[in-house]
Amino acid sequence: MSLFSVKMRSSAEGVHISGAERIVEADEVADVCAAMSRRALSHSKGTPDSITVTVAAIDGEIMRVPALAITEAACEDPREARDTVINTLAPLTPHAADAWELLTGVRDMRGAILFHAETGHRLEPDRARGVRVTSLDAAAATGQRPEAGSGKARVTEALVLASKVAHHPSVLAEVCISDDPGYTTGYVATKSLGYVRVPNMKPAGSAVGGRLFIVDGRDTGGLIHYLEHTPVLVGDTE
Ligand code: AMP
Repeated sequence: MSLFSVKMRSSAEGVHISGAERIVEADEVADVCAAMSRRALSHSKGTPDSITVTVAAIDGEIMRVPALAITEAACEDPREARDTVINTLAPLTPHAADAWELLTGVRDMRGAILFHAETGHRLEPDRARGVRVTSLDAAAATGQRPEAGSGKARVTEALVLASKVAHHPSVLAEVCISDDPGYTTGYVATKSLGYVRVPNMKPAGSAVGGRLFIVDGRDTGGLIHYLEHTPVLVGDTE
């Protein structure tokens, strides 16, 4: 079965507005291009003057990983959320509290922090941008995917990303706080614990948001290549 990567990015006067990507079968390509263009044109951040959609065949076998199981921690406020995250990270790094401080101090990054478990140092080459995870999609057929922009789509997209990330052997854990001021549920994920939703990760209205991956630092170049370029389908591993 040949698969295609479909990517869209839109901008207005050179400023990025939105982006999306899918991995689909040949007979879905046309519909997905149309849906992405529609989505770009009705984005709440503004009307784009440029929409670029690219379609590229994926060479060779695609990697498939199962979706992490979802559970939810009971956290009434950001202090309890902090305790939950730090307790989860503590067996993996002696710098768990530093990782939390770092993550809750960043905003407006496009990608994730790579946090070296052993030293607590940052390993991503560009600290302002971070490392962006791309080339991923849910394996379910188009019709079964939730409507883009719905609450369900938000969890699905995050679960797909977290599942790709957690399945790399150098990644020990991921922590995510949404940068949407109205969305305060974050998550902490590991391959063995799964995807743990953490309510009240930040106070409502806060512009804080970011992602941090705790990594073992063995082959950072190989890890970044996997995160950015290796196409991965999540779920329905056949
Ligand atoms: P979001 O959950 O979309 O609100 O994103 C929260 C934060 O995660 C953003 O501020 C970025 O720092 C980071 N982020 C978003 N998308 C990605 C991605 N594809 N890869 C890595 N980090 C991301």
